[in-house]
Amino acid sequence: MAIQSADSETSIALVWFRRDLRLFDHTALYHALKEYDQVIPVFVFDTTILAPLPCADRRVEFIHASLRALKDELQQAKSDLVIRHANPVTAIPELVAEFRASAVYTNRDYEPDAIKRDTEVAAALREQGIALRTFKDQVIFEQDEIVTQTNSMYSVFTPYKRAWLTKLNDFYLRSYPVARYLHHLAQLAAQPFPSLQELNFVPAGLADLPIQAGTIGGEALFENFKERVDRYHLNRDFPAVKGPSYLSVHLRFGTLSIRELAAYAWREGSQGAQTWLSELIWREFYQQILWHRPYVVHHAFKRDYDALAFSNDEILFTAWCQGQTGYPIVDAAMRQLNQTGYMHNRLRMITASFLVKDLLVDWRWGERYFAKQLIDFDLASNNGGWQWAASTGCDAQPYFRIFNPVTQSTKFDSDGKFIRRYCPELSALQGKAIHAPWLANQATLAAADVTLGVDYPWPIVDHACQRDKALALFKHRGRTP
Ligand code: FAD
Repeated sequence: MAIQSADSETSIALVWFRRDLRLFDHTALYHALKEYDQVIPVFVFDTTILAPLPCADRRVEFIHASLRALKDELQQAKSDLVIRHANPVTAIPELVAEFRASAVYTNRDYEPDAIKRDTEVAAALREQGIALRTFKDQVIFEQDEIVTQTNSMYSVFTPYKRAWLTKLNDFYLRSYPVARYLHHLAQLAAQPFPSLQELNFVPAGLADLPIQAGTIGGEALFENFKERVDRYHLNRDFPAVKGPSYLSVHLRFGTLSIRELAAYAWREGSQGAQTWLSELIWREFYQQILWHRPYVVHHAFKRDYDALAFSNDEILFTAWCQGQTGYPIVDAAMRQLNQTGYMHNRLRMITASFLVKDLLVDWRWGERYFAKQLIDFDLASNNGGWQWAASTGCDAQPYFRIFNPVTQSTKFDSDGKFIRRYCPELSALQGKAIHAPWLANQATLAAADVTLGVDYPWPIVDHACQRDKALALFKHRGRTP
C-alpha cells in the first residue's frame, strides 16, 4: 500500500498500538513522530489471543470501541489506523514490507506471553534488517528501576512505595507532547474498520457498565473522579458509594496515560489523592513482581504454599461463580462481576478470601474466573490480588487472618444497599437479616417474602467450621495432618 506524498528518500516507521490506545502522551508514538518523516499507526487483533475467548467478551468490545475513537482522531489528523486480524508475528513483518517501513516502534508489555511474542516479532523483523524499538509507557517505573540497595526486588510494599516516592520527580511524570509532531503522521487512504462480527464477536453489553470507552470516556471519568478524590480515603471501601475512580479499564488499555494520573495525584497532595496514588503504586508493585518472578503466573510466590492440598469441590466453585453461596455480600459481588465485568476492590478481597478460605478452592481457579470476567483484567494485578487474598503471595495477608463475610458485610455495606442492588430477592430484609438471612427468624423471613432454599440458598458452608479447616490446611501444608 502506498503512502500519499512518500518518495524514496522518505523515512517511514510503523507505530504498533497495543495496550496504549490513545493519541496523547504516548512514548513510542512521540519518538517515532520525532524521528521519522512518515509514521503509520497500526493495530493487530491478535488471533492467538482472540481465538480462545467466548464470542461475547467485554474486553474485545471495549478495545473495538476505543479503536474506533482512535481511528476518528487519526482521521481528523488526515491519517488513519491500519488494522489487521492476524498473528502479529507474521502481520507486523508483512506490514513493514507493505509500507516499506524501516523501523517498528512500540511500548513495552511485561507479561510473559507478550515478552515471548515481542521476542518473536523482533527476530522476524531482524531477518528483514528492521529494528523493533520498545519504550516504557504503561508504568512510571519498570523492570528493575526500583530495587533494594542490594539490587534485589522489593517483596514488601511499604519500603517499595517509599523508594518509589523518593525516586519520583517531574522527569518521570513529564508528558510526551505528541500533538506537536502529528504532521508526521502518514496521510493514508481510508482504511477498513472490521466490525465485531467480522472479528467473530458479538456485543457483550458494555451498557451495563458506568464506563465509556476511548480517551473521551476515560477523561470524562477522570474529571468526575477529580471532584471526589479528596474523599477517596473515606469512601473507597464501601461498594454502595461512588468512592473509587473506575479507571482501571482505561489504565489496562492505555486510553489514559499513567503519567497524567500519577502527576495529578502527586501534585494534588490531599489525603485522598495520596491514598489513591498508593493504589497506583500497588499496581506497579505487582508489575515488578511479575517482571522479577514470572513463575507467579503458575505458582505461589511463596513456593512452599504450592503444597496446599485444596479440596476443589466443583459444586461449591460453581455456586461461587454464579453468586449462589447463601452469603449475600459474596453473592452480590459475584453477580456484579457477572453482570458488569467490574467488581469493587473490597469485594474482590472478600470473594477471593471466601473462595480460598471458606470453600477451600485453589486460588488459581478463582484467578482464572476473574480473568475471564473482568473488563479490567490485568495479569499482574489479578495474580497479585489473588495471591494476597490466598496468603500465598508477596506481602500477602497472613494465612490466619480470615475474613468473616458477615462482619465484612456489616462493616462495608451496613444498610445492605449494595446487596439489595444485586440480590433483589432479599431486598425486603431489614437490619442484620440482610447480611445473614439464615440467622433471621421465620417471621422476619416471611415478612420479607423470603423462603430459604427456594428464593435464596441456605449458606453452602458454615464459616466457623471452614475457618478451622482452612487454618489446619495452611498450617500443615505439605505435611499429612
Ligand atoms: P481505584 O480505587 O480508583 O484505584 C485506582 C487504580 O489503582 C486502579 O484503577 C488500579 O489500576 C490501581 N489499583 C487499585 N487497587 C489496586 C490493587 N489492590 N492492586 C493493583 N492495582 C490497584 N486490578 C486490575 O486492574 N485488574 C485486575 O485484574 C485486578 N484483579 C484483582 C483481583 C483481586 C483478587 C483483587 C483483590 C484485586 C484486583 N485488582 C485488579 C485490584 C483492584 O481491585 C482494582 O484495580 C480496582 O478495584 C479497580 O477499580 P478502580 O479503578 O475504581 O480503582
